[in-house]
Amino acid sequence: MAAEIISGTKMAREIRGEVARAIEEMTAAGEQIPGLATVLVGEDPASQSYVRMKNRAAREVGIRSRQIDLPDDIPEEELLGWIEGLNADPEIHGILVQLPLPDHIGRGAVLEAVHPGKDVDGFHPVNVGRMAVSDPAALVPCTPQGVVELLVRSGIETRGQNAVVVGRSNIVGRPMGQLLLAENPRGGDATVTVAHLFTRDLAEHTRLADILVVAAGHPGLITADMVKPGAVVIDVGINRVDDSSREKGYRLVGDVAFDEVREVASAITPVPGGVGPMTIAMLLSNTVKAARGLGGPLR
Ligand code: NDP
Repeated sequence: MAAEIISGTKMAREIRGEVARAIEEMTAAGEQIPGLATVLVGEDPASQSYVRMKNRAAREVGIRSRQIDLPDDIPEEELLGWIEGLNADPEIHGILVQLPLPDHIGRGAVLEAVHPGKDVDGFHPVNVGRMAVSDPAALVPCTPQGVVELLVRSGIETRGQNAVVVGRSNIVGRPMGQLLLAENPRGGDATVTVAHLFTRDLAEHTRLADILVVAAGHPGLITADMVKPGAVVIDVGINRVDDSSREKGYRLVGDVAFDEVREVASAITPVPGGVGPMTIAMLLSNTVKAARGLGGPLR
């Protein structure tokens, strides 16, 4: 039987509605309107489009958004100066520096410059540490947090399940593993394996998964024979593959061979329309959390 398709688009809409209502309540209570600053260095078209989408989504729920466009050749010191200004700005509660950054800029220095209480991407070492010890004040990276929401809101039990994460990046795979492992009945308490390029026999691990989360950036990596019948499959991958039948000349696919795996799995996320929209919804939710001071002090 074909798997249930988990719609991230639908779930993200629900979350955006919840965020919008929370902001209405904050406004009615005389609290400050949450403010998000997005910092874009250079003119990479994909980054420009991501930042535009994030700002639009923020405005739609009532977040005040400010986009800061900086030239590709900006010296690192100057960029750090901008971030310091935003750290001190009382109208800004969330700061997002769009990655990747140009080569001459140290990514670590920039991510560490963002105040942890305003770090809505959850990449600052303080938030990485807080998440690792399940501190509720952690601002958690948006994509893995979105996957947890997808699972929880779809009624998928994680407690005691075998969860396998393919990929160990700081942005997706590693925090994903930690969230599934956390002592938390809401999306945690799983037995977790995190696989990567040095994993000897990937299929040997993925076949044990009750919940399989794939974030490798490798189209078609997971085929039906690698999936346990009845497993839940969450495809984080977003890959462009050539497609001359499309106007743009390409289409987006995940890391999972969707058509064959959906015949084996019990539930699966599509690409697009799965994890992607959840990532943006979690950014909005993190911005409200930060504005409420729940991500630690703001200054
Ligand atoms: P990275 O390239 O930083 O990390 C990929 C990870 O996958 C690495 O840990 C790598 O292992 C591992 N990997 C790659 N190929 C294999 C393989 N054949 N077998 C086992 N492990 C493998 O990517 P990201 O984590 O940033 O992103 C992953 C994917 O998710 C991309 O397609 C990206 O576009 C997408 N993405 C989607 C988002 C969304 O909102 N839906 C948000 C962020 C990312 P190793 O560490 O050994 O190199």
